[in-house]
Amino acid sequence: ANPASQISSDSHIVTITCIILFKVIKCKAAVAWEPGKPLTIQDVDVAPPKVHEVRIKIVATGVCHTDWEYLYESGKGMKSRPFPLVLGHEAAGIVESVGPEVTKFSPGDKVIPLFLPQCGECERCRSPKTNQCRKNWANMQLGVMADGTSRISYKNQQLYQFLGVSSFSQYTVVPDTSLTKIRCDAPLDKVCLLGCGVSTGYGAAVKTAKVEKDSSCAVFGLGAVGLAAVMGCQVAGAKRIIGVDINPDKFEKARVFGATECINPRDHEKAIQEVLVEKTGGGVDYALECVGSPVIMNAALESTAEAWGTCVIAGWTETETMNIMVEKILMGRTLKGTYFGGWKSVEDVPKLVDDYMNKKLKLDEFITHNLTLDQINVAFDLLKSGKSIRTVISL
Ligand code: NAD
Ligand code: ZN
Ligand code: ZN
Repeated sequence: ANPASQISSDSHIVTITCIILFKVIKCKAAVAWEPGKPLTIQDVDVAPPKVHEVRIKIVATGVCHTDWEYLYESGKGMKSRPFPLVLGHEAAGIVESVGPEVTKFSPGDKVIPLFLPQCGECERCRSPKTNQCRKNWANMQLGVMADGTSRISYKNQQLYQFLGVSSFSQYTVVPDTSLTKIRCDAPLDKVCLLGCGVSTGYGAAVKTAKVEKDSSCAVFGLGAVGLAAVMGCQVAGAKRIIGVDINPDKFEKARVFGATECINPRDHEKAIQEVLVEKTGGGVDYALECVGSPVIMNAALESTAEAWGTCVIAGWTETETMNIMVEKILMGRTLKGTYFGGWKSVEDVPKLVDDYMNKKLKLDEFITHNLTLDQINVAFDLLKSGKSIRTVISL
């Protein structure tokens, strides 16, 4: 063969490949232009993945309370985040393309994006004591990738990526340490819930609290996180699981997940902690706070047994403080927090998917509504009015 023609045809092939791999994708996303305003559906550009990044097609996303909080309580209970922002962080999808140096993913893989990374190399990843990997952390809190920019834009204006994910978009780009591959037979419109709420509540009970067999538990707040905590208490073999919520419409679902009784604090004159201490003859072994309010966090702590009770906080607030009477801790109670249920994200989420496929863990029962991306504001209304547990948005 003629060497000259060989070179020119090879370089031609290289050029074509580059065009295919590195094209910008135009798609729909729900954009939060400013805090406190409903989302608007826009045609956005999603840039190709850079080094150690993966572009994914989002197939389904849950709508979590945290998405709502960052939109409507930015600067109140939440720290301010940069806007315009593409929210969404509880999702599942399919790898579309991979950037340079990505070794663990290929186009077509089913994946769950992770707002908590697991790089596997840092000191925290190597410790069994924590799941708090800090790879790309500062960037992701600012809504950008490792190079300081976002991959999503609208008419050349950068749109920030919420927690480095942004699943309220048909396509997004995430770091390869913030993504996990799952089995190919997993239904994405169900396992998306393992990207946040269900993993958080379930892990709060089984991993952070380490609920024991025959113990007594109280779960405050019966949204998706709280119901998943109830499920965790049941899987762990707790004998008594008391669901607490000011919305009694949640009680029926709570029983489905394993609550043995339910209490509405508004039905009682006494403080809820007093009611629980009386009911259980001294307090519960484990209390799980899944609301996100310091007042409820105190109530949860004070409802645990004095000598050995453990209270785990899963509910989210970033700027508020808790005021604890020291004596409540001195006598032997433990107060803990949990982030993403204590799971090491990359390695544990596929195992949770297996648990769902093997019917150890429920997911379908959390889903009260299925909507499309253009109905995203309806999903927020349903969540806020207490009418939904989880809405799954199909993209
Ligand atoms: P949700 O809105 O679906 O559920 C909250 C529930 O709390 C509702 O049922 C509501 O009626 C109930 N509630 C409100 N006030 C109450 C009170 N005074 N007493 C008892 N119950 C009360 O929310 P969700 O999606 O389940 O999320 C729950 C919390 O968990 C939020 O704060 C969210 O930000 C947080 N969260 C934390 C993590 C984490 O990693 N720690 C992850 C996901 C979500
Ligand atoms: Zn790490
Ligand atoms: Zn969430």
